[in-house]
Amino acid sequence: MAKQIKAIRGMHDILPQQSEIWQRIEQTALELFRAYGYNEIRMPLVEKTDLFKRSIGEVTDIVEKEMYTFEDRNGDSLSLRPEGTASCVRAGIEHGLLYNQIQRLWYNGPMFRHERPQRGRYRQFHQIGVETFGMAGPEIEFELISLSARLWQAIGLQDIRLELNTLGSADERKVYRDRLVDYFSRYIDKLDEDSQRRLHSNPLRILDSKNPAMQELIEAAPVLMEHLGEDSRRHFERLCALLDQVGIAYQVNTRLVRGLDYYSHTVFEWITDSLGAQGTICAGGRYDSLVEMLGGKATSAAGFALGMERLVELITESGQQPNGDAAHAYLVLVGDTATSQGLVLAERCRASLPGLRLIGNCAGGSFKAQFKRADRSGAQLALLIGDDELAAGIVGIKYLRDKKEQSEVKQENLIDFLAQQFGLDFLEK
Ligand code: ATP
Ligand code: MG
Repeated sequence: MAKQIKAIRGMHDILPQQSEIWQRIEQTALELFRAYGYNEIRMPLVEKTDLFKRSIGEVTDIVEKEMYTFEDRNGDSLSLRPEGTASCVRAGIEHGLLYNQIQRLWYNGPMFRHERPQRGRYRQFHQIGVETFGMAGPEIEFELISLSARLWQAIGLQDIRLELNTLGSADERKVYRDRLVDYFSRYIDKLDEDSQRRLHSNPLRILDSKNPAMQELIEAAPVLMEHLGEDSRRHFERLCALLDQVGIAYQVNTRLVRGLDYYSHTVFEWITDSLGAQGTICAGGRYDSLVEMLGGKATSAAGFALGMERLVELITESGQQPNGDAAHAYLVLVGDTATSQGLVLAERCRASLPGLRLIGNCAGGSFKAQFKRADRSGAQLALLIGDDELAAGIVGIKYLRDKKEQSEVKQENLIDFLAQQFGLDFLEK
């Protein structure tokens, strides 16, 4: 036997049993996006490396050590996208969607980061992302948070909490950054290696450190919230007031900074304690400076991205069963003529009943073997056509889940029978 080739470390197959949960989340999100007036955008998986260097920032973990970067055959430096925001902004500028306009966009797809694979952290993972443009106030942040809260509710998640912070305007952040560098410089010996490296390149990220040895120092660090100007404070207060009014609970976490260079004002994370260290399910905020950084006209922007793998794991953990999209019926067919006629009949049923889930037996086998397949498929009914049924013009009906006597219907009545049995609507003529 030839040697087996395995998937790449950190990149996973999503098998049929799991994909049902994925589809349910995606479907629910899609319906919510429609309800809130968001439109889908699809971007390429590969972009010029410079796009991410310029947007995410050269001194971030993502760009420094996590990107899948390669030269293509023309010698251009390309990267697999590590996130969707940069591509979305690039596309928006390129196609004139952003200037002087209001946009509500969403996307869904794989992202790539060369991280150390562990629970909730993979090298190919999937995000549903939402980006909005042209809205400067806290109202849109409120909408984004409400939308995400509604999604958790719709898919039945409870064990998840909201943390919120404000980073103020770009200017305020700059002043604060200097203050922070002053502070941490005084304790340079106590900084771990990562934090020393970040001290001058990305000092806010030090606040994000998970290292227990650093926590005391971080606790005592200056707090940005206390250095905000009047406008920024009002912006944040208004957001909090709106959340209060609809009863969305939150904790203000003054250490929540998000790693990326492009955030300002509101940042938020939805976090669970059920998944161990990788507890952030969804993260987002305002990034007013990004459009200009990428060559567009200054445009307000805010969005979030949720990690599908972590969400799926949380749903699986909570013991929710898949909804069960098992087949309605499995068509058992024995003999060549019965098989041909049965498959043609099946096509007629599908044409008339668009909601019908019907599996036709295509792999031969005895009655017994086929009933086994029917049972394993999860179908409610086995529909049976062999020589006898063929001669009599009928279809045998065997109930696989209910204690009901086997019965039969005339072939010409099968469509009506299935419609009634499963409450299916006929195709509108
Ligand atoms: P973390 O602090 O966990 O590394 P992050 O700040 O790098 O997260 P973002 O870039 O904000 O994450 O991505 C948004 C969401 O995407 C995260 O909250 C998480 O749910 C998910 N995510 C990020 N990186 C990964 C990964 N390597 N594997 C699985 N999910 C991920
Ligand atoms: Mg990360």
